Amino acid sequence: MAGDNIIVVDDVSFAYTNVGELAYESMIISGVSFDVRRGEFVSLIGPSGCGKSTLLRIIAGLIRPRSGRVVYNGSVVNGPTRGISFVFQDFALLPWLTNIENVKLGLSFSSIDDNAKYEIANGLLEKLGLSGFEDAYPNSLSGGMKQRVGIARALASKPDVLLMDEPFSALDELTANLLRSDISAMLRGKDIQVSCVLMVTHNVDEAVELSDKIAVLSNRPSRLKGIIDVALPYPRNKRHKDFIDLTDRVYGLLTQ
Ligand code: ADP
Repeated sequence: MAGDNIIVVDDVSFAYTNVGELAYESMIISGVSFDVRRGEFVSLIGPSGCGKSTLLRIIAGLIRPRSGRVVYNGSVVNGPTRGISFVFQDFALLPWLTNIENVKLGLSFSSIDDNAKYEIANGLLEKLGLSGFEDAYPNSLSGGMKQRVGIARALASKPDVLLMDEPFSALDELTANLLRSDISAMLRGKDIQVSCVLMVTHNVDEAVELSDKIAVLSNRPSRLKGIIDVALPYPRNKRHKDFIDLTDRVYGLLTQ
């Protein structure tokens, strides 16, 4: 059940600036506010280039906002923050490390010994259906398998908050469908204990399939157009009238 606020995005604005001869300032995000509560899966959706990834990086503490703030569990986010993990669109695996070594990277800042790290990484690869691929290298995996390693790495530190930047968009539709339903079931099961998930997507069906709440952003500079609650039971049937009605509402707000 959704509960107290875990992440609060409070009036966040951001501009890219360049100094020198070709000085410019490009406003990307303008006064965006919303929150993510305990137990929620929230999607951020908006047109390509509107600043979704930039906003997710601000929430992760990888970029500072121009104004406004992000609060995580009552503290302002000022940089990379323990408890917040990130899944990248392009997997971001290190090709010279084996899959299990890539997952162990998620535990780089943990003080536990190497055997314990190995056990955690091994268990996660198993949960993600990659038993037998521990000692292989990422290059020998399909895109879907690479993203499973990326997700295992993000989960290794037992994060409180999982941020995912278009995690399925580099995959073909069949692979993406399978991974979406696996991840959805995993996050809603008892094995993986994250307090909340925030995902960037430009795919309306994906947002309605996975989310409890969809934050719809406008074109650049990004403003919050509205928040749509998705109170449909899981697993969700894309052909059900209520699912189709909700996708229509999201499209309506996006194109308004
Ligand atoms: P989205 O995730 O919604 O597709 P991004 O957050 O990746 O959008 O990018 C938002 C906008 O910021 C894009 O129009 C992109 O071209 C622009 N942008 C990204 N990096 C820079 C930069 N270093 N300087 C200027 N503009 C940038």
